[in-house]
Amino acid sequence: MESNIILALDIEAKERALKVAEEVRDYVKAFKVGYPLILGNGMGIVDEIASFGEVIVDLKIADIPDVSKNIAKIATSHGARGIIVHGFVGRDVVRDVRRESKDLYVVAEMSHPGNAEFISGVSEKIALMAKEEGADGIVAPATHPERIKALKEVSGLKVLSPGVGTQGGSYKDAIESGADYLIIGRSITMSSSPTQKIKELLAQR
Ligand code: C5P
Repeated sequence: MESNIILALDIEAKERALKVAEEVRDYVKAFKVGYPLILGNGMGIVDEIASFGEVIVDLKIADIPDVSKNIAKIATSHGARGIIVHGFVGRDVVRDVRRESKDLYVVAEMSHPGNAEFISGVSEKIALMAKEEGADGIVAPATHPERIKALKEVSGLKVLSPGVGTQGGSYKDAIESGADYLIIGRSITMSSSPTQKIKELLAQR
């Protein structure tokens, strides 16, 4: 059965990131690469991780449309299959990033406590807009599984859900609430055996 885990490679050390990626490549759906790895190593790290599997570049793009579009274009040219853009910046940004991405994922709601301060109040509208703009999925929190269900119902899109493990969310609860893919980082990358940890999670399905 295909893995439903997207590994968040929030590791600054290049050698360690490459080692983990190579080790777990057959047990993950994709690798999510973001600021921690890219800022220290440059965009070439995306090409390198892409040699082990599908890469989703997570820069949570949130700039004006033209700048956002160019960021997506650069990421795609380095082998990114997926791009993550913030939804709160508005439809025009999502639309322009859509043009430069293969798979587009829109952050509808976040997994940390501060999410409740602003974003959660508009997340249904963001999820609907993501659908209307042709996104392939939304990002919604495993720390609040009921939100996965609600945002999936509103949008009808695939849900990528971070927050399992270190942030307190449960793999099983997230799946039962409708998550299609689980974005998991530290509980796998910091484990003494990332492969074993992934196998334990997948066994819960
Ligand atoms: O280490 P941990 O499993 O908590 O990592 C979660 C990953 O998901 C991080 O890369 C974080 O940037 C990302 N993420 C998140 N909440 C979102 C979107 C992405 O935690 N809404």
